[in-house]
Amino acid sequence: MFVSDCLSVNEKGNLTIGGIDTVDLAAKYGTPCYVVDEDQIRANCRAYVKSIEDNYDGNGLAIYASKAFNCKAMCKIVNEEKMGLDVVSGGELYTALSVGFPSEKIYFHGNNKTLAELDEAVKAGVGRVVVDNIYELENLSKAAKKQGKTVGVLLRIKPGIDAHTHSFIMTGQIDSKFGFALETGEAMDGIKAAIAAENIDFKGVHCHIGSQIFDVEPFERAAEVMIGFMADIKAETGVEVEELDLGGGFGIKYSSDDNPLAYSEYMAKVAGVLKAECVKKGVKQPFIVIEPGRSVAGSAGITLYTVGAVKTIPDIRTYVSIDGGMGDNPRYILYQSTYELVCANKADKPKDFKITLAGRCCESGDLIQEDALVQQVEPGDIMAVLSTGAYNYSMSSNYNRIPKPPVVMVSGGQSRVVVRRETYEDIIAKDM
Ligand SMILES: *Cc1c(COP(=O)(O)O)cnc(C)c1O
Repeated sequence: MFVSDCLSVNEKGNLTIGGIDTVDLAAKYGTPCYVVDEDQIRANCRAYVKSIEDNYDGNGLAIYASKAFNCKAMCKIVNEEKMGLDVVSGGELYTALSVGFPSEKIYFHGNNKTLAELDEAVKAGVGRVVVDNIYELENLSKAAKKQGKTVGVLLRIKPGIDAHTHSFIMTGQIDSKFGFALETGEAMDGIKAAIAAENIDFKGVHCHIGSQIFDVEPFERAAEVMIGFMADIKAETGVEVEELDLGGGFGIKYSSDDNPLAYSEYMAKVAGVLKAECVKKGVKQPFIVIEPGRSVAGSAGITLYTVGAVKTIPDIRTYVSIDGGMGDNPRYILYQSTYELVCANKADKPKDFKITLAGRCCESGDLIQEDALVQQVEPGDIMAVLSTGAYNYSMSSNYNRIPKPPVVMVSGGQSRVVVRRETYEDIIAKDM
């Protein structure tokens, strides 16, 4: 009925998440409020771990791309579910380390890690630094040498794949700020430099072709290109590449038009291509890494708001204003993302009211959805925006000095705050 399995409607006609009434949650924790279903997140983690066991003899690691949704509770869950963690900043690394996340299962990404972050990564003993460019390789080598350590490294490669997704979130093509280009020879030069570099342990190659991808074909092509490159590396340098990181980007359901494959199907198909290509190109089957972010957290979360003014402009549109907006969900203003809306206290009623859901920030573009169908909403109703578990809290800002909403986790019929609501004191805490 809804885009996520963890959502339903109870006997009162109210929307539930993880079996809990969202209208009760709104009353208990206030709005706006992010709510995530921990059991759904754990099930998603397990599906990824299992997909590698079932299709690739467990010779790999699923790591959660924590930029989708990172907080202490999330890092703990991911660790308990035996996944590794992808971090893209010192702040994400710090959060993971603060809950004792095993550093050898942390992969440090990013196209321009600062010198301080490289030092922090070496000091923490992260399992892999995914090196983006030659300048970074030199700096990492220096940082490791200074600390008397050796760092495991993957090189990020642009495999030149068109991933059929929004151009803002397409990253595997040559015109991208991320990684080393294959076509120009830049990638091979980088590999040679990594093999030769002091205090660097060259482990393998990485690619990430984009996000919110539904077709399995771009992943298969990327696997093929990368195995071909591994064969080239072997031929040119004699080094057998041990590890292949295929990135993330698996699509989720934001609307009923989206039809993602089961994760096990992605892995079955991609593992098939990997095995066949390794035989064909004469290379050893690599240890594989996958990096799902959105598909671990996205469908497990919703955001609850209270409806304020409802403004109908005759023959034009009806604006429904809520007590949040681009500060807690900038994805519509960034990429016109689709979301399903539900009036939480009228969830059993027909969706026969076309509205534009407007945020409260002083920007005309601060909208969450335009011309979307929802129940007949009125001021005071609770509005739920679905599939907001990824790239909402993690992308939130304090624009207009609005405090950030809390994150509430539900599990086994219970709810708890995992990130508290910001206060006005938090807002001025850093002002001198
Ligand atoms: C963002 C990102 C991911 C996760 O992408 P999703 O679309 O959230 O699965 C994985 N790897 C890298 C390098 C990324 O930048």
